[in-house]
Amino acid sequence: MTDEKMTGNTTEKHKQRMQKLKEKVDSRIDSATDERGLLIVITGNGKGKSTSGFGTVARAVGHGLNAAVAQFIKGTWACGERNLLENAGVKFSVMGTGFTWNTQDKEKDIAAAKQVWLKCKELLSDPSLDLVLLDEMTYMLSYKYLDLDDVIETLNNRPKHQHVIITGRACHRAIIELADTVSEVQSIKHAFDNGIKAQKGIDW
Ligand code: ATP
Ligand code: MG
Repeated sequence: MTDEKMTGNTTEKHKQRMQKLKEKVDSRIDSATDERGLLIVITGNGKGKSTSGFGTVARAVGHGLNAAVAQFIKGTWACGERNLLENAGVKFSVMGTGFTWNTQDKEKDIAAAKQVWLKCKELLSDPSLDLVLLDEMTYMLSYKYLDLDDVIETLNNRPKHQHVIITGRACHRAIIELADTVSEVQSIKHAFDNGIKAQKGIDW
């Protein structure tokens, strides 16, 4: 077979493959007709969970949607996304205190968690909100600071069109079951392990 003929064959094969792929993708697009608020979980030990959540908030706000953010744990720390998104009209609710390894006060942590959760319940019943990010919420369930049934009921009863993103490591399996989309970020390596401290604009 001449080189020319071989190239012709592979081009034709490629075209056929792409045509088949297009048919498959098109049929999946056609059958995905449901439209409703999604529950998205970004969990795992790797870096990229909160940034993914905030990236989606930026994406939504860029389309003129209304979003709000609740941040568990990171009460008093600086947060680049907050500086930006608050200016774009995104309301933030944060835990007023720091957290256990700073405060060493479990009762205070629980009270702070419950206070943010009350705010979350307002957000999760507000039909004017298209997207709510619950950053680092998984820990509140693994420490049992919040009642799992209450969290599930609140998520289930939220406005039908409202999207919710939950981030944090070791997400409770009941939340994973409830979610529509779940991604696990795996850590292959992290700069911190090589003694590099958290970098402004990258880690916070
Ligand atoms: P980011 O906010 O950068 O998306 P994250 O939300 O996935 O990170 P968290 O578990 O919330 O990660 O951790 C918060 C901080 O810890 C961030 O500064 C992040 O860079 C850092 N971090 C994330 N993953 C790791 C890891 N595997 N080892 C060490 N530090 C990490
Ligand atoms: Mg995070």
